[in-house]
Amino acid sequence: MVARVIPVETFDLVIFGGTGDLARRKILPGLFRRFLAGQMPHDSRIVGAARSDLDAAGYREMIKDAIAEFGGSEKKETGQIDAFLACLQYVPIDAKGDGGWDDMAKLVRKDVVQAFYFSVAPSLFGDLAERLHKYKIANKKSRIVVEKPFGRDLESAEALNATLADHFREDQIYRIDHYLGKETVQNLMAVRFGNILFEPLWNNHYIDHIQITVAETVSVAGRGAYYDRSGAMRDMVQNHLMQLLCLIAMEPPSQFGADSVRDEKLKVIRALQGVDPHHIVRGQYDAGKGTTSYRQDAENERSFTESFIAMKCHIANWRWAGVPFYLRTGKMMKARSSEITVVFKEIGHSIFSENDNAHRNILSIRLQPNEGMDLQVTIKEPGPGGMRLVDVPLDMTFAEALGDSDVEVTDAYERLIMDVIRGDQTLFMRGDEVEAAWAWTDPIIEGWEARNDVPKLYDPGSSGPEDALMLLHRDGRKWREIKGE
Ligand code: NAD
Repeated sequence: MVARVIPVETFDLVIFGGTGDLARRKILPGLFRRFLAGQMPHDSRIVGAARSDLDAAGYREMIKDAIAEFGGSEKKETGQIDAFLACLQYVPIDAKGDGGWDDMAKLVRKDVVQAFYFSVAPSLFGDLAERLHKYKIANKKSRIVVEKPFGRDLESAEALNATLADHFREDQIYRIDHYLGKETVQNLMAVRFGNILFEPLWNNHYIDHIQITVAETVSVAGRGAYYDRSGAMRDMVQNHLMQLLCLIAMEPPSQFGADSVRDEKLKVIRALQGVDPHHIVRGQYDAGKGTTSYRQDAENERSFTESFIAMKCHIANWRWAGVPFYLRTGKMMKARSSEITVVFKEIGHSIFSENDNAHRNILSIRLQPNEGMDLQVTIKEPGPGGMRLVDVPLDMTFAEALGDSDVEVTDAYERLIMDVIRGDQTLFMRGDEVEAAWAWTDPIIEGWEARNDVPKLYDPGSSGPEDALMLLHRDGRKWREIKGE
């Protein structure tokens, strides 16, 4: 089965910060892939806007290099690259200045879908939003895309939401969390709500616990100064892990639409209980063989910021009462791996042998590497010799059944940008969700600050501090092994 590609409407997309790392590494290579797939109409315009003094030819050269460096196999499609580059324009602007905006006004058409990607520091959002109106570039139908970090606490997130709300309605604002653009995350919803098998079991009667792990092998070197003000809780848990938790725990929405889904996610965040400090383990990676420590990378020898966190959370509602959600994320870990694991309860009584009730069904949802989903089921070990049970994974990715389609290469960013052009906000965070997530996160962080909580050291290339293993061990459970690249 070949994936159907439905072209979007012709659009003009302005990328503020169009020369930056995110634009060159993700946004433009992603748009090129959509162009190759036939989804991006050739009369669309992409306007890079940044401080560098470039013209359209210089910008096209820069993006050609970026696609060569960061594109995947599609970078070989040289035949089409010129046609794609012809869609690109560039305007030098300073968000805080007034030069260049009239030129932009001439480039951005009023009769096509307009989107403005704010791929710049959040401190510039207000200036950009204001000038887009002052120079009559944006209108009531324009969409804006904003990146994380969306605030660093409730107060700053509220201020940022208020700044954007001064110029745009909520249905014009697309807050990106690229985890939501992953194929498997959407497949999780398809599996949960498209089958009768899972939903009846999706509660505290049948689920023992849920684990969410986002492990990275990279250090914070190169962005240590930024990271040190943030830490794993702000950088990963408040947004990415929280979003995954919402999708796994939410009630079935009445339809797959932006507000229905986001209403249900919001209810989950609001039902999250405060976390007992004893149920949180913070860590900082130590120096290893040939690698520097967190404190060296952050250039802060007295830093108490966590590069790792593991925690046990509870959702206070009928469905999840008593079911722990264990979250874990960190830098410099043994492998790059993001996985959600739903561990079902043991069967009540085994008819086979005394030891054979220890088998469990486990649904694992892998976001990276190798996006996919499998369900561990118990079957008879083949062959003679009596009834022996064995656990095997049932592959639910069905890549073979669905064929070698372009679905495999659709990256989260490009999928989400196409959603912006289509006007579909389902996979974007609403302002109240972001605020609710900070409202839950803030007291936890304030507690650490008040106690001068010192993170535990862990070895680079490990699974984090020993205490994180104990967090589950104490409950008679264990983390899934971190396997990946
Ligand atoms: P970057 O520093 O590489 O690029 C910044 C861009 O903003 C450049 O194009 C620069 O010219 C432009 N810029 C800076 N000041 C400006 C001004 N006054 N007026 C106009 N343009 C100005 O940053 P980046 O890594 O591309 O990140 C951009 C945003 O996306 C940041 O908010 C960052 O936190 C967020 N983000 C980045 C990544 C990533 O992987 N790089 C991931 C998630 C979120």
